[in-house]
Amino acid sequence: MRRVLNARAIIAFQMSDLVIRSQKVLLPEGLAPASVHVTAGKIERIAEWSDVTGAAAVDDHGDLVVMPGLVDAHVHVNEPGRTEWEGFETATRAAAAGGVTTIIDMPLNSIPPTTTVAGFEEKLAAARDKCMVDVAFWGGVVPGNTAELAPLVECGVKGFKCFLIHSGVDEFPHVTESDLQKAMPEIARLNSVLLVHAEVAGPIDAVAAEVAAMDHAAYHTFLHSRPAAAEVEAIEMMVRLCHETGCRVHIVHLSAAEALPAIRAAKAEGLRITAETCPHYLTFAAEEIPKGATQFKCCPPVRSRENREELWEAIADGTIDLVVSDHSPCTPHLKLIERGDFLDAWGGIAALQFGLPVMWTNLKNRSFAIDSLARLMCEGPARLAWLDDRKGKLVAGFDADVVVWDPEATFTVTKDIIQHRHKLTPYDGMELFGKVAVTYSGGRRVFDNGQFPAPPNGRLITN
Ligand SMILES: [Zn+2]
Repeated sequence: MRRVLNARAIIAFQMSDLVIRSQKVLLPEGLAPASVHVTAGKIERIAEWSDVTGAAAVDDHGDLVVMPGLVDAHVHVNEPGRTEWEGFETATRAAAAGGVTTIIDMPLNSIPPTTTVAGFEEKLAAARDKCMVDVAFWGGVVPGNTAELAPLVECGVKGFKCFLIHSGVDEFPHVTESDLQKAMPEIARLNSVLLVHAEVAGPIDAVAAEVAAMDHAAYHTFLHSRPAAAEVEAIEMMVRLCHETGCRVHIVHLSAAEALPAIRAAKAEGLRITAETCPHYLTFAAEEIPKGATQFKCCPPVRSRENREELWEAIADGTIDLVVSDHSPCTPHLKLIERGDFLDAWGGIAALQFGLPVMWTNLKNRSFAIDSLARLMCEGPARLAWLDDRKGKLVAGFDADVVVWDPEATFTVTKDIIQHRHKLTPYDGMELFGKVAVTYSGGRRVFDNGQFPAPPNGRLITN
């Protein structure tokens, strides 16, 4: 009996469940022919392309790019409570179709929000058995919940999001500086991270009256209603609080290039501050947004062409650490498409499925190489969410989360391929480079050329 067990153990050591190979595997050293050996959902080893020894199966992807699956650290799934806006089933299908193998869910727009342990437990229950890819969770900081932060970390949230201005939903109130004076030392003590929606109300309130009298269907009106100064003031305050409390700070969806000097200076000083932006800020420009096209509305807003070019400089020099979707859909009704009212429409862009091709199209046009894509959309977000010990790279011991895609193939975004619950997206009709062929989550094919061959078996990450 003992001998049989030993023999099995030896076979298990030599065998890999699967080899995923290609002439273009994106390894930390760069693109190279390689074989990725997968055992029990993890990368067992990276070998020479020809080394498929002991493999139970070989998926040979020719010369398609084999890359770590994307980690999207900014997704509003909205379930439970606003599942009619999006949900775990549809959001994670869209993720799988887009080569995103981990999403990190935002604490708001769901009801209850993830600001208490009880709220988090409801969210975990809602997500169970519905996810095609792995899901981790952010908690939230709201006035008065400092005592919940430690238990939430113990339950597995990866950090905390807060707003400095009305969040858009009443059950997730924003914090003031004095709330942060209480919460930030606690987050520092917990060695967690604070994610900040960095806009303050002052400069926005100051223009509210004149904005109300302007044409609500003109994008320029909306842009005028969310001045860059609101971001600059917020970010300067967060730099100061980061300095005072030692709390790790992350600026979500940076839009205003005017705020870049403050972030550059804070980083130069050695403060623990990082920043993300989103594909829409790097793709669109205010001057090009049609009248009434509220699918382009998000907060902070897409700004000028010149602003966009400055964000690209910050991508190139590393001031912006990562790029995430800020996928924040709602029902089409709330986007007020018929009225085209930019001021009253829900602010949020739906684009989870298209992060890879949108960013690749931009990067390719600007002569960046594929490793930039992995730095911005795999490694960077994994590091933010403390997942860089298992996700964001193709190395031995990491989860076998892999996207296989064709950087030269183009496709057009059409409603029939969109897996989000609602099909309204500013990318509708765009022709993009970078077609996802196959997505593996933990070594299982979860997306295969338009099909979803496996039942939802993604893990809810709470460690
Ligand atoms: Zn968001």
